[in-house]
Amino acid sequence: MPTIRPLFTEAQIAARVTELGLQIRADHGDAAITFIGVLKGSFMFLSDLVRAVPGDATVEFLGVASYHGGTHSSGVVQITQDLRSSIEDRHCVIVEDIVDTGLTIDYLMRMLEVRGPRSLKVASLLDKPDNREVDVRVDYAGFSIPNEFVVGYGLDLGELYRNLPFIGVYEP
Ligand code: 5GP
Repeated sequence: MPTIRPLFTEAQIAARVTELGLQIRADHGDAAITFIGVLKGSFMFLSDLVRAVPGDATVEFLGVASYHGGTHSSGVVQITQDLRSSIEDRHCVIVEDIVDTGLTIDYLMRMLEVRGPRSLKVASLLDKPDNREVDVRVDYAGFSIPNEFVVGYGLDLGELYRNLPFIGVYEP
């Protein structure tokens, strides 16, 4: 029977997301911010994060497939849904669930940079720095974690466990 070993509680996540939201607002003055949620994993973090950012904000989604249901990155980033609006001249924050090898964020940064945003930052709830294959800058990181496979709070394994309100390590 697989078990999920708790890593961060609902309360710990909520407290950290509130801090990140205030920090993002402080860094952008009173400018409008476009949050670009990377589907599907970021949906829960995104919904809590935007509520923690006072002032003007818009929300966009990017559909990305990179894992294909397993626990190891394929290194291939496939765009399954593009943005619906232009980001030209806008302050943007890409919202990810987790940065692991860095391949996905690196690809998305390059893809969005050429569309002429005024600024482009990265917010990721989790960061696994030990597994990095490309050097990427995570401007707003919630928690740094060791190289273990985690689920919950939007993160899945084969589409399951996204609905857990906490984050835990998947132990087969
Ligand atoms: P990267 O391209 O940085 O290697 O991986 C980014 C994506 O891989 C994340 O957005 C996430 O979908 C997936 N991923 C990486 N590590 C984990 C993990 O520990 N758990 C889950 N559920 N997904 C992960």
